[in-house]
Amino acid sequence: MGKSGRDNAITLKSCEEIEVMHKANQIVAGVLSMLEREMRSGLTTFQLDKWAEEYCRDHGAEPAFKGYRGFPASLCVSINEQVVHGIPSRQTKVREGDIVSVDFGTKYKGFYGDSAMTIPVGAISKRVRQLLLVTEEALGKAIAQVKIGNRVADISKAVQDHVEEQGFSVVRQFVGHGIGNNLHEAPEVPNYVQKKASPRLLEGMVVAIEPMVNLGKEKVRVLHDRWTVVTADGKPSAHFEHSVAVTAEGPFVLSARQEH
Ligand code: MG
Ligand code: MG
Repeated sequence: MGKSGRDNAITLKSCEEIEVMHKANQIVAGVLSMLEREMRSGLTTFQLDKWAEEYCRDHGAEPAFKGYRGFPASLCVSINEQVVHGIPSRQTKVREGDIVSVDFGTKYKGFYGDSAMTIPVGAISKRVRQLLLVTEEALGKAIAQVKIGNRVADISKAVQDHVEEQGFSVVRQFVGHGIGNNLHEAPEVPNYVQKKASPRLLEGMVVAIEPMVNLGKEKVRVLHDRWTVVTADGKPSAHFEHSVAVTAEGPFVLSARQEH
């Protein structure tokens, strides 16, 4: 199918559909909050995956990543220099001083939810703490750009400017995306400004905004497992993601976590 194919069209969601997507994303938020609460050194990433899948199914959703393009688990767990798409394993234990990026997706009543966060385990260095803070701030600044009439590039610019001002770098090889009846839909939502036309944000669009920020250089590579993305320089990387609807009242963060 060519460029005008259905998969490439930006879809606009009705209020009712956005409510279903809110539910799908609140289950993701529940998973991430649970993982944040339970995270401690000594846990295997396999255990984290099991808990995430159980929580998801107990709340009436399916884990969206399991089997997606052959991904073998429900949760992506990416530690330290791993950027995204890390595969849970019985052999991998979380250790004191790690940063653990967890990325989870749900499918609920035909719609997808997608959100991610990076969780520190115990004490981490000041610069790594700053990396996490800046990445989450960049996501917040990007969300503030989700307004009718703005362009996707306004989201990209908000992320890139904030990250680079702090001396960190944004990953270019992987991008955010539209989300709806498909996990990944148009438009692409890069974390850097591209020199090409950028779509306008329209009421009813839903985008997953997901800055991936490296402490060192932007370059990444994929390991031989064909999934795990790591920084080329081996320095740590952070990842925060929210699914956000464009509404007349402004950004609606579907995957917002409850304060606790
Ligand atoms: Mg995700
Ligand atoms: Mg995503």
